Amino acid sequence: MKRVKTLPFIVSSQPTKVEIRCCGCKSLINSDQLRLGVWEYKSSSWFHCACFWTNCYYRNHLWGVDGNTLAELVDGFSGIAPSDKSRLLTDASSAPSIGRRKSGSKFEIPYEGSEGDGDYELDDNTFDLTNLVCCSVTKVQTNLHVSIRKYFIPRGRTCAKPTKYGISLNCEQWNKLELQVDDINSAIATTQKTLKDKEKEKDKKDCKDKNKLPGKEEFPDWILFSLSWKRRVGVFASGEEVVVDIREFSEEKTFSESDRGIRLKPDQWKQLQENINNINKSLRKLS
Ligand SMILES: [Zn+2]
Repeated sequence: MKRVKTLPFIVSSQPTKVEIRCCGCKSLINSDQLRLGVWEYKSSSWFHCACFWTNCYYRNHLWGVDGNTLAELVDGFSGIAPSDKSRLLTDASSAPSIGRRKSGSKFEIPYEGSEGDGDYELDDNTFDLTNLVCCSVTKVQTNLHVSIRKYFIPRGRTCAKPTKYGISLNCEQWNKLELQVDDINSAIATTQKTLKDKEKEKDKKDCKDKNKLPGKEEFPDWILFSLSWKRRVGVFASGEEVVVDIREFSEEKTFSESDRGIRLKPDQWKQLQENINNINKSLRKLS
């Protein structure tokens, strides 16, 4: 089902005639004060900026995000004063990590709905890659981005909304990805073969010494493709699947993975390839 896409968060410093009460501290917000809010049940809940980071249920979706992602997730971000923008960026990067709702692997967030039970807020420039991952073409000021992102289903809702987990590619990086699709697919085939060979070897070993405990699993190394100086596409085996990981690597920690990125399962990678023409159509339309 198609719906108009609304961003999950909203920011404003526009004076209002009506009184706005902060959902955090319950006191009034001065009418011209910068306020940060979240859309819930078709209405907005507003907070003082400081109260947002301590009280808003969805605050962790904005923690640690960069300017581009803020613009993608927060309605009105491009319209606020530069000083307010940098304040938001500082707040987002310095927000406390205590109470962050994370579980399992470093790159996974707990979904509040079961997979596939909700609608995505799809517009003409957003493409479903299945299992709560979407690819959307967005324009921030004059810059076009291809954003591949995890979605989540908010409490009590059936419509999925974007999270901060994912990566926003500029056109140059997107073109590089597109040019390397065949090579990436060859890497997937190679990795799959290695994985199968290892399985066979393991089976043989298991027959030989049944009583021996299985050793630590060894997986083939990542095969890397470059999108930019810091951004890589990695192909590697994760469990029994071969995944495609598009990620930014941090400079400080000798190119360790940052959490700005997305790990695509085989079906999602297939969906992305099938949507290449649509994505390029959207890029042309918005440019
Ligand atoms: Zn407040």
